[in-house]
Amino acid sequence: MPGLEDLYREIVLDHYRNPRNRGELPCPPARRAEGFNPLCGDEVVVYADVAGGVVRDVRVGGQGCSISQSTASMMSVAVKGRSLAEVEKLERSFKAMMSIVTDGDEVAPPADLGDLEALRGVVKFPVRIKCATLCWNTLSESLRD
Ligand code: ZN
Repeated sequence: MPGLEDLYREIVLDHYRNPRNRGELPCPPARRAEGFNPLCGDEVVVYADVAGGVVRDVRVGGQGCSISQSTASMMSVAVKGRSLAEVEKLERSFKAMMSIVTDGDEVAPPADLGDLEALRGVVKFPVRIKCATLCWNTLSESLRD
């Protein structure tokens, strides 16, 4: 009987094999940031086109393990068209799911994490958590003024 973990594995593999929003954006106007996870050798490059406080477009590049690259793909889908405040909330929710943010009342991730929910199982493998949060940290850096 296929369980939730099999479904999650399929979602992760799908994003790894068919990454969404892959590529680059001209800088400027887009902002660019690079992230590196030396523990695993993952690289993520994030391009964010921000105008009027909204992430109008986002592209991701880089290379690495399936967790790091599929998370970047899912993240790009989740944040595209969102306000900076919404993006920050998504990041907090995701990191709460990864048990990194444990303070406050955001214990349960909201439903709007979408495909990112598929990474819930990563929390059981602490060494992989850095793979899953790399793209979020890189996105944050690109959005910082
Ligand atoms: Zn990795």
